[in-house]
Amino acid sequence: MVDLKDFTENYAPAPEGVEHVKLKDSYHLFINGEFQKPTSGKTMTTINPATEEKLAEVAFADEQDVNAAVKSARDAYTNIWSKLPQKERGKYIYRIARAIQERSREFAIIESLDGGKPIRESRDVDIPLAAAHFFYNAGWADKLEYAFPGRKANALGVAGQIIPWNFPLLMAAWKIAPALACGNTVVLKPAETTPLTALKLAELFQDIDLPPGVVNIVTGDGSTGSNLVSHPDVNKVAFTGSTAVGKSIKKTLAGTSKRYTLELGGKAAHIIFEDAALDQAVEGIVNGIFFNQGHVCCAGSRLYVQEGIQDELLAKLKSRMESLIIGDPLDKNTDIGAINSKNQLDKIQELTFSGKDQGGEIYQSDSCSLPEKGYWFHPTLITNVSQSHRVVQEEIFGPVLAIQSFRTVEEAIEKANNTPYGLSGGVWTDKGAKLFKITKKIRAGVMWANTFNKFDPASPFGGYKESGVGREGGLHGLYPYVELI
Ligand code: NAP
Ligand code: MG
Repeated sequence: MVDLKDFTENYAPAPEGVEHVKLKDSYHLFINGEFQKPTSGKTMTTINPATEEKLAEVAFADEQDVNAAVKSARDAYTNIWSKLPQKERGKYIYRIARAIQERSREFAIIESLDGGKPIRESRDVDIPLAAAHFFYNAGWADKLEYAFPGRKANALGVAGQIIPWNFPLLMAAWKIAPALACGNTVVLKPAETTPLTALKLAELFQDIDLPPGVVNIVTGDGSTGSNLVSHPDVNKVAFTGSTAVGKSIKKTLAGTSKRYTLELGGKAAHIIFEDAALDQAVEGIVNGIFFNQGHVCCAGSRLYVQEGIQDELLAKLKSRMESLIIGDPLDKNTDIGAINSKNQLDKIQELTFSGKDQGGEIYQSDSCSLPEKGYWFHPTLITNVSQSHRVVQEEIFGPVLAIQSFRTVEEAIEKANNTPYGLSGGVWTDKGAKLFKITKKIRAGVMWANTFNKFDPASPFGGYKESGVGREGGLHGLYPYVELI
């Protein structure tokens, strides 16, 4: 039998070349089609979390800068974008999609440098999906009368959009593409630790001659996002991030006429039945929680396995974990990259060890030694936990899987639903009827059957309960950006 550990350690490095990637030393705010210095002159640093090395200085937008960006978006809406025929708007969005495809390698490398995710993922998932969202929404731009038959779909005006650090370019695409397709203009606030691909996107907007002010990008921290949310001339807020910040945004917006969508946290469950294809399920579990270091809102962070196969499944899972390669995000062999920031690493460690303190048993693969610099966390399993444990209830947003067993279908459904969240989940069985019965009873926005973490721009995405309000993607994703007459 092949020793997987040997195999992992002896894999020859295959680093992606970075010579052709051009990063500036410093980036300004993108307002009215131009890069402008922040009024305060204040900047922040973005680093590579795999090496802790500085990548660039980035402007910090204060209230005055946010005001300028919203004014630029309003002027562009009134004078340019709302006056363009729908099909002309569509052409710009198609152009954005094609230009992302043309520069996909550069975008993928910058995404991995700035955020720490493996190049295989940014190359094969983030960037192609970002282009696909622009293509998909470009198609709707001149067909809104078919999207909403018998109704007239009016744009709302200026959309203020705030995104997290786990899928920076993809989240920007999720937000910008439907807003533009429905005739709105945009002010986008990327996350503090991963602003670079959004700023590269701004350069791309200049290159394709997108009219000035149609999309503005303000980098900064939570205060920048907060200024954007409370700005009186913003008509619609689209936020993806933590449930705590989502709740505070909801409070700020209560009683205003602003429309909003909130895509928040998750605590997705895999339910694995005795009749499931176990090897396939193991791949799905690994993909669902170790993919992108578990920095995925819909990560499968809870596992419910039917009692009779628990030992077999755990043995297979542990064996598979031995072959996972952790390390340089730019190496094409890497499965698990760096944790996005020191702050996030601290959160993962605190929650994981709370699992131990509450009586859980921790298993970590030691297939690879971790690099000395940077932020890293071994893929982790926690067994011997119960529903009330923090690791079962709270979002960890790291490569940590809490495992419990169940006996009956009813027990599995009850346990899977027993969390404040309801974003996604997965069921593994070879019985079609069981799949339909169970997926209908799980209170989650997305349910995968015998697979996990599959995305398509035509499919709506969003949560129940504390996982959010509204849907993004697909036809459903257009509704939040229009007023139907
Ligand atoms: P976060 O702290 O809520 O931050 C998200 C964004 O909001 C960042 O750009 C952040 O800026 C900004 N922000 C922070 N405080 C703000 C405030 N008071 N007002 C307005 N904006 C504010 O979340 P995160 O830790 O970056 O992201 C991880 C979370 O996102 C997880 O909970 C995950 O589940 C969720 N997520 C959900 C989905 C989904 O579709 N449901 C998708 C991806 C991620 P800074 O970066 O400068 O702090
Ligand atoms: Mg960074």
